[in-house]
Amino acid sequence: MWNYIQPVEILFGEGRVSEIKDVAIKLGGNRGILVCTKFFIKSGFAKQVMDDSDGLLVAVFGDISPNPSVDEVDNCANVIRANNIDFVVVIGGGSAMDAAKAAATIALEDASIRKYHGTGVSISANHLPIIAVPTTAGTASEVTCVSVLTDGDKKAPIVSDGFYPDYAIIDPQLTYSLPKDITASSGIDVLSHALEAYWSKKSLPICDALAIESMELVFAYLERAYNDGYDKVARAKMCEASLLAGLAFNLPKTTGSHACSYPLTAIYNIPHGEACGLTLDYFVRVNKNASNGKVLQLARKLGFKDCDDLANAIVTLKQNVGLRTDLSQFQLSDKQIDELVIASKHPNLDNNPVKITEQMLKQMYNSMR
Ligand code: NAD
Repeated sequence: MWNYIQPVEILFGEGRVSEIKDVAIKLGGNRGILVCTKFFIKSGFAKQVMDDSDGLLVAVFGDISPNPSVDEVDNCANVIRANNIDFVVVIGGGSAMDAAKAAATIALEDASIRKYHGTGVSISANHLPIIAVPTTAGTASEVTCVSVLTDGDKKAPIVSDGFYPDYAIIDPQLTYSLPKDITASSGIDVLSHALEAYWSKKSLPICDALAIESMELVFAYLERAYNDGYDKVARAKMCEASLLAGLAFNLPKTTGSHACSYPLTAIYNIPHGEACGLTLDYFVRVNKNASNGKVLQLARKLGFKDCDDLANAIVTLKQNVGLRTDLSQFQLSDKQIDELVIASKHPNLDNNPVKITEQMLKQMYNSMR
């Protein structure tokens, strides 16, 4: 018995970013804010979107860093309050979308998002309407109820039904300008979402189907998108892979690789997707006997001989797109390994199909030195 819910209306295709104004009108918006990645302010695209809105967008907020901070969310919420904003358009990667989603909620109450970050306090589902326009093929934050925020060394997701955008407009053209390193990092994030959704303790048949299709697309198109950012087919297929993986993991949630990624990003500043990808082949090997051979079935469906063959293919893919395959550059001390082990014990680890002990984490990190 299972339920599958996906409340976001999705518009997918080249050039569809031009439909922002139509969608805003459908939502009944009058005074919108454009929240966006700095790159699009510098490139002039943010101004073009403002101009095309014919006055519906009245403010811009572009002060968002990769791994957005709780302070940036609070600042964005202040701008929303000060301008009597009634809808939010966000154009950017997971960082911009996560910040905008949280700001669209917290702006409706007189509080800081800190109140809800890693505290277990549940946040209200009330939020300003959101139109999310992703510009990386990676996080799928445009269809998830998650916002991942950082406060110092603490990086943690907040989950709320209020974080689902009302509309997702996915226009592959917006990903053409992605540099190679971000193409690679966000692309391996897609593979992590799909794999982790598939073997999650909370996996669902519909999510398995989405995850398998997504993984096939990543193995077929990530290297192409990396080698030629203007390969239209590869970019569109990676956007599709990202979306499918987002629809796959949103309910089952992620597992071991995401749990380990949070300290790897917060302490060693490794980009999110790359941090997830670092341990992905380890978790394929550890989870290979989980769930009655389900992972072996997956490996075979994807055209691999067995789980080790799948894990090796992930290592090769990482090498081919210039991602780290170990932590050797950090010359980690025993103390730092111990710190990573403790910080990796995030709740997502309990969603891994095989129980992961401290000793296993220690062995894993030691093998990556
Ligand atoms: P990002 O949003 O952090 O962007 C990385 C960099 O790329 C930024 O400097 C950004 O300005 C730039 N950029 C983005 N799009 C560009 C484009 N088209 N052209 C040129 N530059 C561009 O990267 P991301 O991988 O999309 O997001 C990572 C964040 O999302 C992490 O904080 C991660 O934890 C979070 N995340 C959230 C979810 C979720 O469900 N909400 C899921 C996975 C990850």
